[in-house]
Amino acid sequence: MRLLCFYSIGLFLIVLLSGCQSFRATAVPSPFAHQLVRDQLIIHSDFSLPERHRLVEELTSQRGVMSEKLKLSATDEPIHVYLFSNDQSYYDFLEQRFPSFAGRRAIFVETDIELAVYAHWGDHVAEDLRHETSHGYLHAAIPNLPLWLDEGLAEYFEVGRAKRGVNQAHIDHLVAKIDLENWKPDISRLEQLNVAADMTQADYAEAWAWVYFLLESNDDKAALLTDYLNDLSQDGIADSLSIRINKRLAGPELALIEHLQSLR
Ligand SMILES: [Zn+2]
Repeated sequence: MRLLCFYSIGLFLIVLLSGCQSFRATAVPSPFAHQLVRDQLIIHSDFSLPERHRLVEELTSQRGVMSEKLKLSATDEPIHVYLFSNDQSYYDFLEQRFPSFAGRRAIFVETDIELAVYAHWGDHVAEDLRHETSHGYLHAAIPNLPLWLDEGLAEYFEVGRAKRGVNQAHIDHLVAKIDLENWKPDISRLEQLNVAADMTQADYAEAWAWVYFLLESNDDKAALLTDYLNDLSQDGIADSLSIRINKRLAGPELALIEHLQSLR
């Protein structure tokens, strides 16, 4: 689960991670002796990465994948990725640098001077880096991206290109709720969320579901999302996506449920 928080300590910070509270950053020595530059990504690590590591190549190509899928112009704002070789040094760093986020597996931090991802080289590093780097690419291109959509898109891209956005954990979660008849999708409700701590696992799943439904349905629903993102990208403001969907589609909630059921 990743969350979003807005907090000001002189710098304007946005943090997306698996839990979020305000924090006071303190200066600590940098443990990152190695640096690798791949297009938009500047990877700082406390260990030596091979020049052509497959995960680094994937994260680099994700820029083009997202740009093509979302029909966004690629940007060149640097995204700094800070990598630790082991979990203990990562969690120790988090404890010192971002104490309110101690224990979080990976985080994305936006300040007015930097887009940054922090993570450690553990069992979930690929998923975590695809997710957090997605936030980086999105924030570099789109101002004022709504929280729920930011997370829905990151959940879509975290699974890797080969899976084409299929996030099986979210499908299982939502299909189980559909079977129990205790879930009704409501994109307008998601749009009201602006505090990351308020987002539940079900919210993440539904955010992913709307993104997947729009991008991967057979007809031209993708344009609803890509046009919206492009309007935000160009103007920094757009009427809500739910209004656009309801103008264009009849019964989008039922269509979303049917789409999820087809993924069983
Ligand atoms: Zn996230």
